Amino acid sequence: MTTRVRFAPSPTGYLHIGSARTALFNYLYARHVGGKFLLRIEDTDIARSTEESTRSILDGLAWLELEHDEEIVFQSDNADKHRSAARKLLAEGKAYRDFTPKAEPTDQNVKEGIAERARANQGVKNMRDNPYRDLSANESDARAAAGEPFAIRLKVAEHGRTAFDDAVYGIQEREYADTEDLVLLRSDGHPLYNLAVVCDDIEMQITHVIRGQDHLTNTHKQILIYEALGVTPPTFAHLPLIMAPNKGKLSKRKHGEVVSMTTYRDAGFLAAAFRNFLALLGWSAGEEQEIYSLEELIQKFSLEGIHRSNAVFNFHESDPRKWTDDKAIWMNAEYIRTMPLEDLLPFVKPELKTAKLWREEYDDDERGWFERTIDLIRQRFFTLKDFSAQGRAYFSEDYDFDAAAVEKNLVKFPDLRSWLPELADRFEAEFEKQRYTEENIETVVKSFTEEKGTKLGVIMNGARTLLTGVAVGPSMLAVFETIGLEKTIMRLKSQVAWNAVA
Ligand code: GLU
Repeated sequence: MTTRVRFAPSPTGYLHIGSARTALFNYLYARHVGGKFLLRIEDTDIARSTEESTRSILDGLAWLELEHDEEIVFQSDNADKHRSAARKLLAEGKAYRDFTPKAEPTDQNVKEGIAERARANQGVKNMRDNPYRDLSANESDARAAAGEPFAIRLKVAEHGRTAFDDAVYGIQEREYADTEDLVLLRSDGHPLYNLAVVCDDIEMQITHVIRGQDHLTNTHKQILIYEALGVTPPTFAHLPLIMAPNKGKLSKRKHGEVVSMTTYRDAGFLAAAFRNFLALLGWSAGEEQEIYSLEELIQKFSLEGIHRSNAVFNFHESDPRKWTDDKAIWMNAEYIRTMPLEDLLPFVKPELKTAKLWREEYDDDERGWFERTIDLIRQRFFTLKDFSAQGRAYFSEDYDFDAAAVEKNLVKFPDLRSWLPELADRFEAEFEKQRYTEENIETVVKSFTEEKGTKLGVIMNGARTLLTGVAVGPSMLAVFETIGLEKTIMRLKSQVAWNAVA
């Protein structure tokens, strides 16, 4: 039998990190076993579902490159099927009509009946405590025929338990007594979540349900529905929760943008890096390795490798740029630094375009320079945004000077105010005679430094700050060469940074 799994988000918000991880694990499992990865939009909560959410979920999946097989199923399209399943269970006596009015019961007898049963149970809630549970079929039919509204509830047996062998958590059991006679169909005919999920999973021939551990209780309820329908349930694999840094619950409401996929896309994360990061939130191949290509993830993924303990998402709520202790940012930097340059360039181009730093020559005459420059500066970058932020000085004359860098590398050495323009003159004279290469630059800067009786670092750091606006970056000799002779001279002579602090 072909393995068929599904990702079944409710379109009530953007794609958040927990859902994205669920989607990824389903995807990896399907691809690992050569099965199908299906997508079902659970849009039955009419009040909360929006098309915008559906779109944003699809965007998020597309960004992560989690391509689904077959047509997308919209749960709301199947409502009739859900209703007929509920009616079938009703006809077979496995479900019953509950005529309890929506508001407080006004029927004195019903009220007294409830109060009396509560007394008899001595406060312990009896889940089978519904006055309509054992109504005769005739009376139930008659009341329905007379137009009295009713919900349909599953008639859960009094004794026994549901049990299943979870692929992650092992044997799970729950006494029937702990589960209420769950509503399958509301009095307005609206099918409820658990019924809809079971019907759709059966219809879509799902073999493995891989979803968050927060669905464990639902799984027991769904198994009751499978049993009533006489269908063997699929295999279940529940995923550990993803917790906030304080080990509290991660929530869209509380943590907002920080848990949204679009935040990472917009912050300059590479989908490949973020996918790699997500894969390790609750799964490992049992080895030290942490950087995995998609192919490797597919090859190594297994349900056995899923952890039982909760994962923690270590974000820094107020400033994504400070996530340096977070694996996600580290991983993104690793990808940026080590991926084949030709794979990185297509991501850098739109970033520079958005920042209005792109020039068509970079695809043409200056292609060589552009590639060398990206290769040089990517070594210390964390996100794609860095190419247009810290990297700005490589592509534009209009770049900012970091105040701390100016203070530390320029203001502290007042002599530099005349020395650096002097170095510019020296460059002008020397590089008329010889080529402007790292080696030659080094010789010129070294002899200049000796003449001034200062340290090489003082000259280099000062020049770095004037040339790039910041205090750190790649080897300064490479920076000189990359910026080019003409711009180097101009920037060393420029008083802009000095004037800003004067
Ligand atoms: N729609 C549910 C959710 O978004 C998932 C249902 C399931 O995977 O069975 O949490």
